[in-house]
Amino acid sequence: MLDALVARGTDSADALTVDGRRTSRERLLGAATALVERIAGAPAVAVHASASLETVTAVVAGLLAGVPVVPVPPDSGPVERDHILRDSGAALLLAADRQVWAEADIETVPVDVRERSGAGLPSEPASDATAFVLYTSGTTGAPKGVLLPRSAVAADLDALAEAWAWTAQDTLVHGLPLFHVHGLVLGVLGALRHGSRLVHTGRPGPEAYARAGGSLYFGVPTVWGRVAADPASAAALKGARLLVSGSAPLPAPVFRDLERLTGQRPVERYGMTETLITVSTRADGERRQGVVGVPVSGVSTRLVTEGGAEIGELQVKGPTLFTGYLGRPEATAASFTEDGWFRTGDMAVVEPDGTHRIVGRASTDLIKSGGYRIGAGEVENALLDHPAVREAAVVGAPHDDLGQQIVAYVVADGVSERQLIDFVARELSAHKRPRVVRFLETLPRNAMGKPQKKLLPPV
Ligand code: ATP
Ligand code: MG
Repeated sequence: MLDALVARGTDSADALTVDGRRTSRERLLGAATALVERIAGAPAVAVHASASLETVTAVVAGLLAGVPVVPVPPDSGPVERDHILRDSGAALLLAADRQVWAEADIETVPVDVRERSGAGLPSEPASDATAFVLYTSGTTGAPKGVLLPRSAVAADLDALAEAWAWTAQDTLVHGLPLFHVHGLVLGVLGALRHGSRLVHTGRPGPEAYARAGGSLYFGVPTVWGRVAADPASAAALKGARLLVSGSAPLPAPVFRDLERLTGQRPVERYGMTETLITVSTRADGERRQGVVGVPVSGVSTRLVTEGGAEIGELQVKGPTLFTGYLGRPEATAASFTEDGWFRTGDMAVVEPDGTHRIVGRASTDLIKSGGYRIGAGEVENALLDHPAVREAAVVGAPHDDLGQQIVAYVVADGVSERQLIDFVARELSAHKRPRVVRFLETLPRNAMGKPQKKLLPPV
């Protein structure tokens, strides 16, 4: 991974821009190498993962030193932060500011991006060494520490380069958090490994994306929703090569608006912290709304269906998988089948041409009502097609007669419960209509903009 990091791509004074500050690859490596001797030999190193050059420098230092990197969300409260610091076994915290978490029970090593080390790069750590302990998004429960070996990161980035025709000629633009797979592994290490210029906009937003002038853009659905709501900024993306969405389902209206405003259909990809990105629409493939594409190179998928159903649990295998949940051998064992496939916990459909559609999580998004199996996403998309609805989250709630009844939570103005129920019954079918619609001011979402269905109020 690191040979490539140094070797590929031509360097320039603005090879990397993070939140308005620029640096070259050479200067990044100089500053990271200076940190190596301070962290070498640590069992793991935590990083205060703000959207900054310091974070990029700290992460590269950990990778160079062969010390597992534990990115910690910079806005974590003391409970989440201390859980991650303790659970991960990190011995040091790398941060721009020594005082940032002064009250935490850990030694802080300040990161100075102007430092230079004359020392050569350390020899490359073994490919099975742990690169990251990455915590899951915590959408369904407490975040779990996922052990990702260097080989998985390298395999996934190379598979995505192939799928997206991603090269040193690209300028990658995004503003995603630097403590998850999307923003950090794909969004920073991908650019470093493939030699692309990187513009991290600090925060994701339509105007920042429009100004950055990239060829390859990453965003989560909430970000693409904001871009689609800003026609002038969206029009500035007309010249881009690829708009990539992932981390949660891209609502159908956002897909359509992006196509109308930018002249191109976004590419969806699917993955998990535990597996990295396993399925994606290819740059040279057909871009269809609602599909996430085909398995990336080296990855195999299978659907486990019950009794001839079309929808089944998606299971995956391949070189991009994690080695386990940190300190949770039972959870690790339970996440694999006896014959070695990883259970994603997501429900999917595979079309005859091999493209995958993600229906949602088995735990929250597959609703069994009156003998039917209904994907929450389909109902959410139908609701979002109503002009008065801005956001929608659909769940199944226990029901005496139906087993589960469809309950919709919406952010909407000037529409009644009855009107929305009838709208879905007409657009989809009667059995897919919500029985109850609750109106909320906002939907509970996590840092990646994913609706946290467990935090929705009871019916
Ligand atoms: P936790 O495991 O802590 O509950 P999480 O599952 O949200 O949180 P991540 O590993 O960040 O944590 O997210 C992976 C999940 O995101 C997948 O299992 C899937 O449900 C969802 N996901 C990712 N990409 C897509 C996509 N393109 N379409 C639909 N869902 C997606
Ligand atoms: Mg998960």
